[in-house]
Amino acid sequence: MRTLLEPRPVNDPFGDPGLYVDFRDERRALLFDLGDIAALPPRKLMRLSHVFVTHTHMDHFAGFDTLLRIVLGRKSRIVLFGGPGFVAQVEHKLAAYTWNVVDRYDVELVIEAREVVLDGGGECACFSSRRRFTREDCSPFSPAGDVLHDEPTFRVRARFVDHDVPCLAYALEEKANVRVDKDRLAALGLGTGAWLHELKHAVLTGATRDTAIRVHWRDRTGDHDATREVAELQQAILDVVPGRRFGYVTDLRHTEANVAALSALLAGVDVLFIESVFLDADADHAARKNHLTAGQAGRIARRLGAKAVVPFHFSPRYEGRDAELLAEVHGAWSAPD
Ligand SMILES: [Zn+2]
Ligand SMILES: [Zn+2]
Repeated sequence: MRTLLEPRPVNDPFGDPGLYVDFRDERRALLFDLGDIAALPPRKLMRLSHVFVTHTHMDHFAGFDTLLRIVLGRKSRIVLFGGPGFVAQVEHKLAAYTWNVVDRYDVELVIEAREVVLDGGGECACFSSRRRFTREDCSPFSPAGDVLHDEPTFRVRARFVDHDVPCLAYALEEKANVRVDKDRLAALGLGTGAWLHELKHAVLTGATRDTAIRVHWRDRTGDHDATREVAELQQAILDVVPGRRFGYVTDLRHTEANVAALSALLAGVDVLFIESVFLDADADHAARKNHLTAGQAGRIARRLGAKAVVPFHFSPRYEGRDAELLAEVHGAWSAPD
């Protein structure tokens, strides 16, 4: 089935955590976590519109410089999200360089840092290359409940989990998508054209049923032009495809409070990307390190009713033993009641 978003881990499971989410049919992408991103070529980094950071341990944030180096002078805007203290951390990262020439670059880069604070409110600041990345106020950021970012085709929600420090667990949710049934379109005697995009957009953004769509196309017999209502066209040629939901959960302790936060965020999720750092046999060590074991991750996936689970953030101590970690996650997730 064609869906809007294509999420893929940035690295192998022993590498730094990260999830790259490509948009089909658009030169655009999202990124969750900003650790080692050397595996992402510049053209992929240039597509990023929004980056969602879970917390700023180095393995989740050290790639900031790599990203900055690629987008500086080439891209006009990027929005970064993070938890408590994030705006100041972005400010300090930028303050670590000398910027005496960037104000002359043709393409102005604006970095917008958005911070979710513990009470659920938000802070925001902008940093422009034109003004040597000094901190400036920008349009206020305030999450609506747990919704950090909302567009007509998808939204991103987040809740805090405890990793000794507050850490954001994310839900990425496609909204319902629509698909054109080409056979029914042909049966109606209508041709394809830009109007289909307009129709899909109208349906996805909740346009009223009687909204007029100019149906225009050109073929061998010439120009064709008609006006139809959204509801009529929707019923005749569109199928509504339910959106998929993805979870990105990494760096957390195994506590009831954390599991409750994840249940509120991710119950019934389609694909759960979840850290699985240690084996159950090393559960005491996992607790000391504020991380999950593979078994705990699998049991959480099971409790959430996740339809698929993808483990990552394996500890280097298990190098060459990834099959054991995978087996533990999948065994716990699919165990009979
Ligand atoms: Zn980590
Ligand atoms: Zn961490």
